[in-house]
Amino acid sequence: MVEIKTDTALETMREAGRVVARALVAVREAAAVGVRLRELDEVARLVLTKAGARSPFLGYQPSFAPAPFPAVICASVNDAVVHGIPDNYRLRDGDLVSIDCGAELDGWAGDAAISFTVGTPRPADLELITATQQALDDGIAAATVGHRIGDISHAISTVARTAECGMPADFGGHGIGRQMHEDPHVPNHGRPGRGFPLRHGLALAIEPMLMAGGRNDYRTDSDGWTLRTIDGSRAAHIEHTIAITQDGPRVLTLP
Ligand code: MG
Ligand code: MG
Repeated sequence: MVEIKTDTALETMREAGRVVARALVAVREAAAVGVRLRELDEVARLVLTKAGARSPFLGYQPSFAPAPFPAVICASVNDAVVHGIPDNYRLRDGDLVSIDCGAELDGWAGDAAISFTVGTPRPADLELITATQQALDDGIAAATVGHRIGDISHAISTVARTAECGMPADFGGHGIGRQMHEDPHVPNHGRPGRGFPLRHGLALAIEPMLMAGGRNDYRTDSDGWTLRTIDGSRAAHIEHTIAITQDGPRVLTLP
């Protein structure tokens, strides 16, 4: 079922989104060569706690997962695409890091992700991040009243194809509101003019995940969570929660 949000609900989602944005800024500032992923999770936890927000990630266990998720962020490094568990790994010079974070405030959720490099970046990684950001920007730009979900998907997949990047076929964005994951699914691959019609008050998480090797298949780590590229190439993942409004798309997870 797709829930259309009231303007009041969207204001609360905006506050949850601000908490997510603050957590991501804090994590990015803390990330440096030698810092452990587990420490980045602690940074995000502190921001959520101070804001009185609950983490929708911590303890989350979808059907594919063998165990509840143990952290408030996903930390996916280099060939990890999404759902990386922040562990004792220490960041190295040139790492490409994607951090995904969610927050629930007064019963409403926000969800966003950033990708960045640590130390001296590889030029190819910067290009990958730029393409992923462009895919998100174009996806958001297509999220207007009168369009359909497929228009968002098509905008994202057009950028990925131009950049000669792959995207995991069965992971994408989603409706969001009282729950972090709600209907409708927002595929990253799709055809224009198809799917659920976009209306004022629909809230979506849009999240392109680009894999530099160009393939759409992936593998799952032995931890049952981490998605990795099949060819060892690097991946980037950038996400915003947005609301579709009469006045155009409104990004809820900006600072
Ligand atoms: Mg997310
Ligand atoms: Mg999401």
